[in-house]
Amino acid sequence: MFGKVGLMVASLALGACSAVTATTASPQPAPPEGDLRFSRYIERFSSVCEDFDDWDKPTEPFHIHGDTWYVGTCGITALLIRGQVGAVLIDTGTDKGAQSIAANIESIGVKLSEVKAILGSHEHYDHVGGFARMQGLSGAPVLVGEGAVEVIRTGRDDPRDPQAGLHAPMAPVTGTIRAVADGELVKIAGLKITGIATPGHTIGAMSWQWESCDVNGCLTIVYADSLSPVSADAYRFTDHPDYVAMFRKGIARLRPLECGILLTPHPSASDMLTRARTGTMQGGMTCAVYADSKTKALDERLAKEAAAR
Ligand SMILES: [Zn+2]
Repeated sequence: MFGKVGLMVASLALGACSAVTATTASPQPAPPEGDLRFSRYIERFSSVCEDFDDWDKPTEPFHIHGDTWYVGTCGITALLIRGQVGAVLIDTGTDKGAQSIAANIESIGVKLSEVKAILGSHEHYDHVGGFARMQGLSGAPVLVGEGAVEVIRTGRDDPRDPQAGLHAPMAPVTGTIRAVADGELVKIAGLKITGIATPGHTIGAMSWQWESCDVNGCLTIVYADSLSPVSADAYRFTDHPDYVAMFRKGIARLRPLECGILLTPHPSASDMLTRARTGTMQGGMTCAVYADSKTKALDERLAKEAAAR
C-alpha cells in the first residue's frame, strides 16, 4: 500500500514536470484523499527530526520540487532526482544510513536498479560511507569530484584533509568511479546536472546544480556542499595558505550561482527543517547568504588561530 501510494504521487510529480514542456501531456487526475499524505511528509520531516539530528535516524522521504525528492535520514541529506529513464541519487549517508535511504527510494516507487548514478558531495563517512553498499544494490557508477576519487576508491582519508583521522574508514568502492570536473554537465537518466567544484571542507567537495520543473514553472536547485572550516585538533589552516586560497575559491564559486532552492548535506546548515515547517523548501537562505556565512566562519577561524600563536 505504501509503495503504491508513493508510486502514484511520484508519477504525478513527473507528469507535472512533463506538462510544462510537452504539449501532448494529458492533465493528471487529482490524487485520492489518502495519497495527499505523501506531500505532507515534508512537514513530518520537521516534526520527526531535529536540527543536528543523528546521521542514521530514519525519516520518510518527501517531495521537494518537480523531479526532486528528499530520501535522506534526519541528520544527513540524500536526494533522488527522477528522470525519464531512471533516477540519479546524490549522497547515501553512512553505511547504515544507506539502508534507510534504499528503503526510502523504493517507497516512492523507484527500484534500486533504476538508479543510474550515485553522485557525491564530499568524501566524508557521514555522506558517502554508504557508497559501496548503494553501488552493490544498484550497480550504478559513482561520480565525485576529482579530488575525492582516491578516498572513495580506498575508503581512507586524504592526509591533506583538515579532518584527516577523525572519521571512520569507509568500505572501498570497487565498481565504477568517475571523476567530474568543475562545470561539467553530467547527462544521465535524461537529466542534466552540473558539477560545481567547491573545495575547502574537503579537497574533492562538489556542489550540484540542476533545473527542476513542475506545473508552476522551473526552479534551479543547488545542492551546496559543506564549506565549514572544521579540522582535527592539531590542524591549523594558517599553516596551509594554499589550502585556504583553494577554500576561498570554492566559496566564491558557489556564491553567484542561480539558486532557487538551496539544499545542503546537513539539513541544519541551510535551515531545511525550518523551511519544512512551512511546507516547502522554497524561500529561506540563498546561495550568497550561505557563501558569506562560510567566508565569515573561515575568517573567524583564521583570526582565532593567529591570536593563539
Ligand atoms: Zn564533512
